[in-house]
Amino acid sequence: MNSKILLIYTGGTIGMQKDENTASLKPFDFTQITNLLPSLQQFKIDLDIFSFENPVDSAAIDHYFWIDLVNLIAKKHEQYDGFVILHGTDTMSYTASALSYMLEDLQKPVILTGSQLPIGQLRTDGMENLISAVEIAGANENGKPKVPEVCIFFDTKLYRGNRTHKRNAEYFEAFESANYPALAEAGIHIRYKEWAIDYPKYARLPKFHTQIDNKVVILKLFPGIHPDIAKSIIESPFSKGIILETYGSGNAMMHDWFIESLKKANKKGKIIVNISQCNAGSVEMGRYETSTKLINAGVVSGFDTVS
Ligand code: ASP
Repeated sequence: MNSKILLIYTGGTIGMQKDENTASLKPFDFTQITNLLPSLQQFKIDLDIFSFENPVDSAAIDHYFWIDLVNLIAKKHEQYDGFVILHGTDTMSYTASALSYMLEDLQKPVILTGSQLPIGQLRTDGMENLISAVEIAGANENGKPKVPEVCIFFDTKLYRGNRTHKRNAEYFEAFESANYPALAEAGIHIRYKEWAIDYPKYARLPKFHTQIDNKVVILKLFPGIHPDIAKSIIESPFSKGIILETYGSGNAMMHDWFIESLKKANKKGKIIVNISQCNAGSVEMGRYETSTKLINAGVVSGFDTVS
């Protein structure tokens, strides 16, 4: 039996074309994509297309948009074996990360992809990305999906979505997952690395989370950061969570004003997470003296396992 895949178009470069008058890129009617890409019809996959009424550049995507996506998938999840989401590359990693938590126990492939060049343009990377993402979303073995995770497929590699970040605004290899291996690689064949894929251990009913608190701030440290500015961010009455971007393996300056400010915020019930400014490697609080004080101030390690 053919796999049933829902292709969801949210916007982004992949579905844009040049406006003849202004020469700027604007979204086109994506429901016509199978005419543009007859190769999609060669798969043993039944493909339906859902396009958001107002496709957006992904810079405009916010948590309300994620909630709309989750509601859409919740409504359709029994009808389809997998989902492909076409999305602008700029915030694709954020959406993939959010969906990986909001679609708890979905146990079906949700593959995000996009492109650096519009799909109708010569040398586009959109064609390969879209075709491979559809193939991966529809791939199964003994009736079980090959990749039951929220992923990003881009330029020959399938990544666990919540381990990625956009690293390149120019080349086709736009994404990186520095701390976790690719789940599959597309060459002549698509080679799946089953040992890296998270297969469900139990059959569970999916839970669709549609509540998000966005009272979170990211504070990136830099040498010479002004105490008044840093304190106003840490102690802001508006935030409930702080992501502290520290140096190396989780190190920060040890000034009393900084540690006291963190302690104060922690006492107010704020969750403060320590992540590294480095692309690769883990936070190891306590490895250097410069991070032990953070532990005492109630800061939690963002960890990030390297494998
Ligand atoms: N600005 C575009 C977006 O993120 C870039 C892209 O699609 O690659 O929507």
